[in-house]
Amino acid sequence: MKNYNYFTFKFDAISCPKCYWSGQGKDLAYGEFFEDSFIAEFLCPNCFDTIAFVQFPMTEEVKKWEEENPGKKTGWEE
Ligand SMILES: [Zn+2]
Repeated sequence: MKNYNYFTFKFDAISCPKCYWSGQGKDLAYGEFFEDSFIAEFLCPNCFDTIAFVQFPMTEEVKKWEEENPGKKTGWEE
């Protein structure tokens, strides 16, 4: 299992170590969301093993990223 950057996760190339499925972050299924740490778990859409963790950013981090990457899509907009 790996930690992914929230802003690039949706378009990151990800593969499942268990069943060898491969795709992008946006193809993964949602797992648990840990409210105390703002970490979401993502599951392989094929075998439903947990294969990724994503730490959700604070408002300031989102603002900073938008300023540094004007107009860049993160995939979370949809
Ligand atoms: Zn899998």
